[in-house]
Amino acid sequence: MNEFRGKRSAMIVGAGVAGLTAAAALARAGWQVEIAEASRDRATAGWGLCLTGPSLRALDALGLADACLAEGYGMSVITHVDVDGIPSDRVELPRLIGARRPAMVGIARPQLHRILHAEAERCGVLVHHGLTVNSIDPQQALVDVRLSDGTDRRVDLLVGADGIRSSVRGLLGFETPVDYLGQMVWRALVPRPAWATGIHQFAGKVNTAGIVPISGRHAYVFLTENGVQPNMLPEAELASRLADLLAVFPGRVEELRALASASDSIVRRPVHTVLLSGAWHRGNCVVIGDAAHAPAPQMASGAALAIEDGLVLAEELKRHSTVERGVEAFVARRAQRCRTLVRTSVTISGLEQAQRHSEAYPLGDACHRRMAEPA
Ligand SMILES: Cc1cc2nc3c(=O)[nH]c(=O)nc-3n(C[C@H](O)[C@H](O)[C@H](O)COP(=O)(O)OP(=O)(O)OC[C@H]3O[C@@H](n4cnc5c(N)ncnc54)[C@H](O)[C@@H]3O)c2cc1C
Repeated sequence: MNEFRGKRSAMIVGAGVAGLTAAAALARAGWQVEIAEASRDRATAGWGLCLTGPSLRALDALGLADACLAEGYGMSVITHVDVDGIPSDRVELPRLIGARRPAMVGIARPQLHRILHAEAERCGVLVHHGLTVNSIDPQQALVDVRLSDGTDRRVDLLVGADGIRSSVRGLLGFETPVDYLGQMVWRALVPRPAWATGIHQFAGKVNTAGIVPISGRHAYVFLTENGVQPNMLPEAELASRLADLLAVFPGRVEELRALASASDSIVRRPVHTVLLSGAWHRGNCVVIGDAAHAPAPQMASGAALAIEDGLVLAEELKRHSTVERGVEAFVARRAQRCRTLVRTSVTISGLEQAQRHSEAYPLGDACHRRMAEPA
């Protein structure tokens, strides 16, 4: 306990999906929560993402699933199309928040962040932008934290939710490699074609492409570029280079190519993964979200794990008499599920690069079904 009128206190590093969810869940459970976020403003990089059933279920527990469905585009089916442009597999995903609501939602990242930010602040969380943590000193039942503005905090719990390049991980002594999987992923914001009412994924002879609706009006076209070293392309070349990569796909991708070529919002990122093999916690300190387990985007589930982490952490802290025991129980409950997801995403990335798509689809399907089990 600390000086905040008997409330337990938490410092969370990072106001991303994991940090904001954990903050809201802890504040609802009566914790006094502050977040130190490195970026100076709330702007979030522009592409969209797909929140699968487990994300929606966790968001529903916070009362936020309907807000995401209202801002985004609800859907339940993934259609896989083979190299000849012929639909080869149709996966109907389980509806985890009831038969009347969709299995998943595509949403623009800024909208998701706006919803999570608003909820955290509604619950009384203080979000400080342009701030990070310089040192962490776990004491017996408390944690001393020095922030980058020179101020100090003594808190009951320190949560590192600072993403795949987490510096909290290093400050706690959890070194781990950030692996590059040999793929670059592209996202282009486009008007949604009327036929894109679910996710469509097109296998190519070399790369994989597809479309994810994120609102009634918009979708993003994605392309996974295989066998390349991570490199930067000049902004001005992105549209023409993406058009070249899409040109080799048959069928509906021709239409997507025309839309993507005209997009003024295109991003290209390397596919990196992280999986902490040892501890995620030390005393009353823990890392969550991508800082502990960052899957490749093929399973569209990194945010799902991050959101679940926030909820489960608050649940386990409520269940146990000390913070340290709560944190230990959190890691014990999460480790296997997160490991399975990250490893499956890495395997699928390899199968894609080997053009073994027919093996990748059932693997992804089975993993989605496993993730449908309670977190
Ligand atoms: C191309 C791509 C597509 C993806 N698509 C999907 C998808 O469709 N569905 C899905 O579920 N997942 C997807 N993911 C994964 C998903 O984006 C991540 O798993 C999720 O964002 C992890 O959330 P997080 O809060 O742990 O980390 P982040 O979202 O990275 O947030 C970390 C936060 O910490 C802040 N920060 C960083 N360092 C510091 C510091 N030192 N001090 C203070 N603050 C700091 C950052 O500014 C950021 O706000 C995708 C990932 C990529 C790369």
